Order: sequence, then C-alpha cells, then structure tokens
Amino acid sequence: MIRFEGRLLLFDIEGTVSPLAFVREVMFPHARKALRGFLDHQADRPDVVDVLGQMARDAGRNSVKNWCPHPIGSGAAKEWFIREFEHLMEGDAKLTGFKQLQGLIWEEGFRSGALQATLFPDVVPAWQKFLSSGLLLQIYSSGSVQAQRLFFAHTQEGDLTPMLSGHHDTTRGSKKEAASYATIALAVGMAPGEILFVSDIVAELDAAREAGFATALAVRPGNPEADPSSHAILSTLEEIILPA
Ligand SMILES: [Mg+2]
Repeated sequence: MIRFEGRLLLFDIEGTVSPLAFVREVMFPHARKALRGFLDHQADRPDVVDVLGQMARDAGRNSVKNWCPHPIGSGAAKEWFIREFEHLMEGDAKLTGFKQLQGLIWEEGFRSGALQATLFPDVVPAWQKFLSSGLLLQIYSSGSVQAQRLFFAHTQEGDLTPMLSGHHDTTRGSKKEAASYATIALAVGMAPGEILFVSDIVAELDAAREAGFATALAVRPGNPEADPSSHAILSTLEEIILPA
C-alpha cells in the first residue's frame, strides 16, 4: 500500500498492468500461427518487402532472392520461409528484420481484433478512480511509444488510450538510469516528487527514487519473487491510496 498526494501516476506495462505471461503465451504463439496468412495477404506491402530484405541482410545475404533457395513466390519458398521464421522464434532471435516482422504481424493482429491485450482486472477500475480524482496516467515502457499505443488501443476492455495522457519509451533513456526519470519529469513539467512510478523491477524503482520519484513495486501473479528493498508494495492498483 502507498499513500500518494502527487499528480501523475507512471506505469510500467509487463508484470505491472499486464501479466508477464501475455507476451509468452499470447503474443509469441500468435506470431507463429498468423505468419502463413500474413504472407498470403500482406507480403506485397512495401513495408513487408523492406522487412524481408532486412531479414536477408541479417542472414548475410544481399537480397531475398539470394537468401531463399527456392523461386520467390513459389509454394516451396513460402514453406521454407515459414520454417526459417519458426527456427528464429525457437531461438528467441533478436535480429532486426525478424523482430520487425513480428511487430508487423502483431500490429495486424491488434488491428484485426485477432489479438487483444490482457490487463489485470483491477487496472481499469483503479484508473477510472484515479482519473476522476484528477490524477494523470502515463506509461513508461521499453516497448516503443507506437507499440504501447497499439497495445492500449486494443485491450480486452476496449480502447484505453483516452485514459492515458502520455507515453514514454527508451528514447527517454534506460529504465534503470535516474537521468531518464529526471527527463520524464522535465517533459511533463512536474517536480519529481509529484510522480509515482509503479514497476515490477526493483532496479527501475531504485533509479526512479534516485531522481526523486515516489515508487511502488507491483507484486503480481506470475512475477518472479523480488526483494522490495524499501519500496512500497502493491498487489493491486487499488492499494494506491489518495487523499480523502
Ligand atoms: Mg515490467
């Protein structure tokens, strides 16, 4: 529980407002399952063509034609590519083109409704209460601002983007550096002490506190056990207590 009298609540996403398992159990299986249909219907899009070219370069080839052992556009080429993609998924590859293709498939999945973000059940009711008390709600996540907007626009509880007044990503700096939090405070025009940062990672909270933020550790089902150090602990967002 934490008593908070400031003006802005800043939330991490994974392990804080959304289960860690969502990425592993929903996002990754979706990318694997949706790839074939994505190639059937989207492979001619210029951004998809660019990403396939990047994947060829990541593999050390100068073009898709010089990468794929089968004639481009053939069924054999598609099956080969699907196996290649699954192989990269199994190895949890961090290659640029592969990650970009995953991102495009997820984007398509969110837009089509095949993919919906899962939030912990206390999040939306607590956010409504905070907003009606005049607080601002913002996000700081290592996922890009664009990916964050996509995520909150397509949740199981609908489009939550109107509830959020700002998004921050690693263009503000690493979540484990105090300077990043100082930059966020400056960007929103508030004193650090007016901001509460909630995350499941103690090192991020340490950095936020160093910058003068209030901090609270999200302890959620599925999170690895963390020593809260001296940070407040929340098992739901309802444990953020506002002044009466
Ligand atoms: Mg997290």
